Amino acid sequence: MTFQPQMSHKSPDPTALPAPVAEQLATLALTRGRPLLIVDADEVLFYFMRGLERFLDGRDLYFDWASYALHGNIRQRRDNAPVAAEILHPLLQRFFAEATEELEPVDGAAEALAALSETAQIVVLSNVPMPAREARIRALARHGMAYPLIANTGPKGPAVATLLRQVMAPAAFVDDIPHNHTSVAEMAPATHRLHYIADQRLAALLGPAPDCHHRAETWPDLQAHIHSLLTQT
Ligand SMILES: [Mg+2]
Repeated sequence: MTFQPQMSHKSPDPTALPAPVAEQLATLALTRGRPLLIVDADEVLFYFMRGLERFLDGRDLYFDWASYALHGNIRQRRDNAPVAAEILHPLLQRFFAEATEELEPVDGAAEALAALSETAQIVVLSNVPMPAREARIRALARHGMAYPLIANTGPKGPAVATLLRQVMAPAAFVDDIPHNHTSVAEMAPATHRLHYIADQRLAALLGPAPDCHHRAETWPDLQAHIHSLLTQT
């Protein structure tokens, strides 16, 4: 799960590709015609909530597991009051700065990606804040997942559509957040969309994303689906 800022009146066009994302995409060396797997990181490759709970615990805060959102669910231990929105954003920036490199890898993810990399090229598309991008790259490498990372902002459809135009090949997308599936469905509808939430407690809070093709429960399940999808001719 990642922090989703409240949409403000001056929100950028959700179908536009932000310039810093376009710059990163331009550096990828993708092979035209080779299947593409696009994977999210938080709650897909790394246990975001486990790390966040540790971080909150050290600050007399806790997550109350009432819904699939950070806003409203991070509370003060002393009075159970939710942390105000203007405090939440800097708190989460601090969390990403301190904890991104220490998050635990999700069980089975590295093994599944290694097997899938024999038939597909892999890109990690994460809404990690730009200042934590290098830490995420180091964590991916340390845990056997040294695939190119794109630090995205906002909805993921524009970046996925750009990737698809570069490869012109079958593509699969894995993410925990339903509105990312909706954005990809709108902007890159040919992408096969797999909904996966690594943390079982979070997974229990949410049904399948309305715009996904399949909700997966484990990385071996994802691997089997992705392999059959990307090797169909
Ligand atoms: Mg995520």
